[in-house]
Amino acid sequence: MIEDKNQQRTSIAQLGEFGLIDHLTKQFEITQQSTITGIGDDAAVLDFKDKKTIVSTDLLIEGVHFDLSYMPLKHLGYKAVAVNVSDICAMNAKATQITVSIAVSNRFPLEALEELFSGIAIASKTYGIDVIGGDTTSSQKGLILSITAIGEANEDEIVYRNGAGEKDLLVVTGDIGAAYMGLQVLEREKQVFLVNPNNQPDLDEYTYLIERQLKPEARVDVREILEKLEIKPTSMIDISDGLSSEIMHLCKQSNVGCNVFEEKLPLDPQLINVCEEFNIDSTTVAINGGEDYELLFTIKMEDYDKLKGNPNFTVIGHMTQESEGIHLVTRANTKIELKARGWDAMSEEK
Ligand code: ADP
Ligand code: MG
Repeated sequence: MIEDKNQQRTSIAQLGEFGLIDHLTKQFEITQQSTITGIGDDAAVLDFKDKKTIVSTDLLIEGVHFDLSYMPLKHLGYKAVAVNVSDICAMNAKATQITVSIAVSNRFPLEALEELFSGIAIASKTYGIDVIGGDTTSSQKGLILSITAIGEANEDEIVYRNGAGEKDLLVVTGDIGAAYMGLQVLEREKQVFLVNPNNQPDLDEYTYLIERQLKPEARVDVREILEKLEIKPTSMIDISDGLSSEIMHLCKQSNVGCNVFEEKLPLDPQLINVCEEFNIDSTTVAINGGEDYELLFTIKMEDYDKLKGNPNFTVIGHMTQESEGIHLVTRANTKIELKARGWDAMSEEK
């Protein structure tokens, strides 16, 4: 979907590097108090006063992490920002700035980069963050996009992966598995399209799943909700690779075990329907699918009443002694050992 709606194709060589950077970045405004200097100098200058600075970075490669045949560039820009902001949220911090670095081949006209940057701009507005810099260069093949997110938090607010205690409850935000099934739907439609390009897909039944895949949101709201409830998670991580592997991370780093209950997993009705259609087990999808960008965290048992009944949260299990291992307790009350079978980008390359 590199073709722009208005069919115009302005070669990026025409603008030159500086013209291009200027053209793409002039739309960004500074709104954060901590941003002293943004784009335009050799480096940005930030001031977090007495707060801690949180930094996370991500690298996205065309053909490995995204496929432009069904991922519109505007969505890619939005998603790239959202997934980085999600990492800051997973530290219980507030995202404040990003830098954006791109490498593009001459296959991309200016209009394509405008689309990409419009997605980045919309996400930045949505999350209230400043774009403060980046780098722009050429690549021999394809698009490479790297975003670094910066955030702030008081030292005592930061939540790490290693703080879960043996009797803590395991909580997940929103619902899980939908982004993975959204990808399955898109992959299927792509194959149908390749066979018959005149076949316009009817995707109405799948809108929620596809949106979860193409336009995931970072849970920037969770920090505030938890603060109001006066809950500080003991450990936290965001769900990028899949529930199973994120649980393993929390357990390994906190030296605890875990029981997760199949009947508690929060699944959207659309996900359940589509799993039936695809003949895939919805629990497997919920456990191993990825890219939901929900938050997974543990709380002390005594905080349960504060969170009970809140529609944002589902208690899906509890931590145990490390020696008890990490298990899924099925509806039939059997225990299955969990393995990290998430989306391992490296294993796909083998
Ligand atoms: P330098 O030569 O020092 O790397 P550049 O000419 O590459 O500087 O960049 C000029 C300014 O534009 C810098 O402030 C840089 O951070 C910013 N910039 C460059 N590319 C991007 C981009 N893709 N997104 C946002 N800001 C960018
Ligand atoms: Mg540069």
